[in-house]
Amino acid sequence: MIRLSRYPTDLENYYANLAIKRLKDSVFDNNGSSFFEVACTALNKHKDYFPEKINSLSDEEEKIRQLVLLEFVDIKGIKEKLDADGYKGRDCLKAEINKNVSNNGNLFSDCYAKVIQSQKQKKKLSVRMTQAQNLRVCPYCNHDWITSRGTSIAGVQMDHFYPKSEYPILSLCMYNLIPCCGSCNQIKLNKDPDQDEHGLYLKDTIISPFDKNHFLADEISFTYNPAEDRVMILGATSHVKRMKLEEAYEMNSQEAKELQKKIQMYSQTQVAEIKNVLEKHGQNISTAEIYRSLFGNLFADDAVSNKPIGKMRADLFKKWAGFTF
Ligand SMILES: [Zn+2]
Repeated sequence: MIRLSRYPTDLENYYANLAIKRLKDSVFDNNGSSFFEVACTALNKHKDYFPEKINSLSDEEEKIRQLVLLEFVDIKGIKEKLDADGYKGRDCLKAEINKNVSNNGNLFSDCYAKVIQSQKQKKKLSVRMTQAQNLRVCPYCNHDWITSRGTSIAGVQMDHFYPKSEYPILSLCMYNLIPCCGSCNQIKLNKDPDQDEHGLYLKDTIISPFDKNHFLADEISFTYNPAEDRVMILGATSHVKRMKLEEAYEMNSQEAKELQKKIQMYSQTQVAEIKNVLEKHGQNISTAEIYRSLFGNLFADDAVSNKPIGKMRADLFKKWAGFTF
């Protein structure tokens, strides 16, 4: 439920150059052609599925660069066109890309693994990407830290929003990769984000943090059910259900209750009294500052992305206190 933005240009270029190099360096044993050549053939042969910004290019390397740096909206467009053509589209392209690969992988995802694990100044690319987004908490759940220990032990995992098993052509796309926690990655696995839990095709059942048309943090709100003593999430029902978000927050009912107790303890009248007492001692502190020191900076711009359960705490405070600070 944290929105992700475009990576800085230097990181995009670094990623794209690495992806191109890996595709060129990977050569099939049987016929000696490189993964790069196979990828270019797929792009040229199936033009209908790819946007004009790729098709209009004549330089093969530029085509691949454009593909791996496509924005989410274009990636989604390719996915939907492939789905609409079913066997002719998605399955055909998948089979074609995988035909020369003997193991369980596919050419793009083999290269993806090498790209994402690569290190610069001993820092893994996945760590650099997470830091570039200023991201400390999983954007899918806002529940778990995705911090790293040192430079190479990454707490973050990369989820392919559109699964690499079904859409190998999208598996190297930088904006199809969601830096997330291990639990969310495991829960999502190869789920199609456009299907509900019964396999019914409904668009946007899982929402990408790169999707500019959705902002999950605005679409859901947390509440607390005292009768069942559990935290509940309203809105974006399919996303919440498919990503098991309420299950993630089962352990947080205690925090919800503590917050409620604290709000009751520090009523607006009492905060005004604290302010008066401080003023008498020559300390001119604003009401908002007093609230921040009592409850933490719940409504700061980065409160959700930088602290686990930040969204839950902010929603519950607003609900129970009736205001923000
Ligand atoms: Zn998560």
